[in-house]
Amino acid sequence: MKELKQLVRPNIWSLSPYTSARDEYKGHEAKVFLDANENPYNDPINRYPDPLQRDLKARICTIKGVPEDSIFFGNGSDEAIDLMFRIFCCPGVDNAVAIEPTYGMYGVCADINDVEYRRVLLDDDFQPSAEKLLAAIDGNTKLVFFCSPNNPSGNNIDRGVIDKVLDSFDGIVIVDEAYIDFAGVPSYLQQLSERTNLVVLQTFSKAWGMAGIRLGMAFAQPQIISIMNKVKYPYNINQLTQQRAMEEVMQHDRVQEWIDSILKERERLMKEFAALDCCIRVYRSDANFFLARVKDAAATYNYLVERGIIVRNRSKVALCGNSLRITIGTVPENNALLEALKNYK
Ligand SMILES: *Cc1c(COP(=O)(O)O)cnc(C)c1O
Repeated sequence: MKELKQLVRPNIWSLSPYTSARDEYKGHEAKVFLDANENPYNDPINRYPDPLQRDLKARICTIKGVPEDSIFFGNGSDEAIDLMFRIFCCPGVDNAVAIEPTYGMYGVCADINDVEYRRVLLDDDFQPSAEKLLAAIDGNTKLVFFCSPNNPSGNNIDRGVIDKVLDSFDGIVIVDEAYIDFAGVPSYLQQLSERTNLVVLQTFSKAWGMAGIRLGMAFAQPQIISIMNKVKYPYNINQLTQQRAMEEVMQHDRVQEWIDSILKERERLMKEFAALDCCIRVYRSDANFFLARVKDAAATYNYLVERGIIVRNRSKVALCGNSLRITIGTVPENNALLEALKNYK
């Protein structure tokens, strides 16, 4: 990898960050807070939250097996994705490379930041080619995005390809593992200590069941994390989110039970869906959703909407003609979908 200083935008490298009131005192037991112009009433939400979410990081570092200074929390992983562009890509100059199709936010964040976004088409099995990816990279490529398991295809991306790009590319490689808890393969977190150019994204929105509180995670070497901390909004994770995440993390046995039942339902739903008249094929899934090619995606989608059942029509996405993306729900929810489609002609 290049020196981090060569990769980071010069204005970000030299940025003096905003210092919040709570950053400045250290090493004393504080009792009286007259530093932040807060209202002294309405405890506890009258206080600004911890800008670095230290209590939550202390819990997550043991669960994930990574050091605290390698963890960043964002307002969803979407915040971390946007920060990658803002930190590394000079607008109008640098570019990012990503597999296609994949999660739409990478391209949207690239557009917002005026950064060229190079889409490298997957093959018919939704797998990338290392040669094609490396050929799309040039001297102004700062970021390469992988999403594994990939959204919307649902499959794990070939590790050989990710490893090859990690080995050969001198910029930052982002591996988005939003669905890793369903994937049955090891996380790239295991490689964090030996790979200085790796950023792993995970989220509380999927297996953890907390999409509503907006909390995402990025893991990287401490130097990258500290740049992310310098660029983020000072209080990006609000107090209610930090508190609720802490409570949920304390009882995280439940998460494994949810994963187990979702995986069981994934197998059943995919099998029964494949047998429906409207279905042409279901694709392999390593996530909590699957992609299915149907005879007429728009008609099937509209039929389901009329019955109050919402799936995602991905027909306009590359390689996903006439395809629906279907999230695994509860047993009754999945049955409602199957019953509706059994009556669909
Ligand atoms: C759902 C999803 C996320 C999660 O985004 P949040 O902002 O954390 O809710 C990230 N990446 C992918 C590929 C996703 O599908």
